[in-house]
Amino acid sequence: MEEFKKLGLSKNTIEVLEKKGFSKPTLIQSKVIPLLLNGKKDVVGQSQTGTGKTAGFALPILETIKEKSRTVQAIILTPTRELALQVSKEIDSLKGNKEVIVLPVYGGTSIGVQREKLKKGVDIVVGTPGRIMDLQRRKSLRLNNISYVVLDEADEMLNMGFVDDIKTILKNTPKDKKMLLFSATMPKQILNIAKTYMREYELIEIEKAQVIINTIEQLYYNINPKDRVEGLRRILDFNSNFHGIIFCNTKRNVDTLVHQLTKLNYRAAALHGDVTQDQREKILKQFRTGHVKVLVATDVAARGIDVEDLTHIINYSLPLSSESYVHRIGRTGRAGKKGVAISFVIPSEKRKLNSIERNNNCKLIQKEFPLPKDIIEKKEEQVKEIIKNIIEANMGKSSKYKAMADGLLKKYHAGEVVSAILKYSFKNELDVNSYNDLGQLRMSSSREGRKKRQRGRRRPRSRDRRSNNEFDNKKTEHKTFSDHQANNKDKKPRNSSFKKKRRRR
Ligand code: ADP
Ligand code: MG
Repeated sequence: MEEFKKLGLSKNTIEVLEKKGFSKPTLIQSKVIPLLLNGKKDVVGQSQTGTGKTAGFALPILETIKEKSRTVQAIILTPTRELALQVSKEIDSLKGNKEVIVLPVYGGTSIGVQREKLKKGVDIVVGTPGRIMDLQRRKSLRLNNISYVVLDEADEMLNMGFVDDIKTILKNTPKDKKMLLFSATMPKQILNIAKTYMREYELIEIEKAQVIINTIEQLYYNINPKDRVEGLRRILDFNSNFHGIIFCNTKRNVDTLVHQLTKLNYRAAALHGDVTQDQREKILKQFRTGHVKVLVATDVAARGIDVEDLTHIINYSLPLSSESYVHRIGRTGRAGKKGVAISFVIPSEKRKLNSIERNNNCKLIQKEFPLPKDIIEKKEEQVKEIIKNIIEANMGKSSKYKAMADGLLKKYHAGEVVSAILKYSFKNELDVNSYNDLGQLRMSSSREGRKKRQRGRRRPRSRDRRSNNEFDNKKTEHKTFSDHQANNKDKKPRNSSFKKKRRRR
């Protein structure tokens, strides 16, 4: 607590921090707080997620704004609704007995209620750019008296294309306001924003610690883009305890994947910027309780999800930056528990994988997708276990199925009866042929692929053909669903066009 006191915080604040259980400031807080309390400069602060940036700017703002002013004195812009709510709650929890009112504003909730509250007088507004502009247009929110503008999670705001909105919002703000910008990463464009909109500013950067924790097992699978759903299916089926997030790079990919998974009977839900606040809260609740096991999300939508105990993170597409990779996989392996981070790598993304490894100083281990027969074997073990438990739980008890069972057993052999019931219960869930073929990888860009092709060319024709088949071992090992479909007239055109494409290369 001594360290907090030294930063120049008031008695009220120290008491609040004591109650909240903050015993000492984080690195970014110890640099930013005195600067904002004393200095006249604007501040740009970078420090990784979870290092207390919110309190870093909120405490000095709370210390310096006036009580009962009935006008908005500070505005905090956040990229998502969830963050607006989170930041506003954090500020509210830090104000202690200081009489200031904090209001979160974001789309998907009633604007009328927000206008009413603004009319009665609010000191700090936390919100998303869209709703803030809306309130400005309706003259409910006036920023001509503010002392602070904060751009929180600025890198995400940039990613989401909020730069023009920020410009619009800043138009009606006083010249002498203090402007603060906080971000987990500091790409060049952010410094450009700072240079354009800020007065003289101080840049505070906290070096990131080794962020990837060793409780996360990092794996990757090579795959063709068109086979990703099949690959995902195999992973999900092989890991029956799966409870995790699948990351896609765009909203559209999220929706498409959820649609595909739902058709395959998985309980999956989508989370992205277009999901309404109500839906979002409902989905997160279902995910937290485990009713939804598979959450498909974009990076931004997944920010602020605090669900512990996730078993897996899947990068259905590799993230756009090496930093996002760390953010994504950090959702698992928490609190000393083991977690698995899986990345799907399509042939054109080999270099991206290398740069993720290089920039994060980590190594991903290559794996092969589980084979249908292994998945089925595992599923069968589970079914046997479930049946065993039911039998044991009902032993000696009278069951309403007893008469039916006796009747069936009088007519047929026990083996036939049980097989029929399994077939009835599990349909094709235990059928190896329900899995599709994972096509041969076209690794044209990789060294491995090139070597294999060259080796093939040197051989006589007849052997060459055989060696190709050996390479494509998954195809020879199973007569799969897609093999069956190849006999089907409807599927022929797709098959031949695939072949054509390969010939062209
Ligand atoms: P960031 O914005 O850097 O991602 P947050 O401001 O959201 O991080 O803070 C992450 C968590 O750490 C919050 O739950 C917050 O209450 C807590 N926290 C912040 N400062 C401290 C501190 N000095 N000591 C302990 N916990 C803190
Ligand atoms: Mg933050």
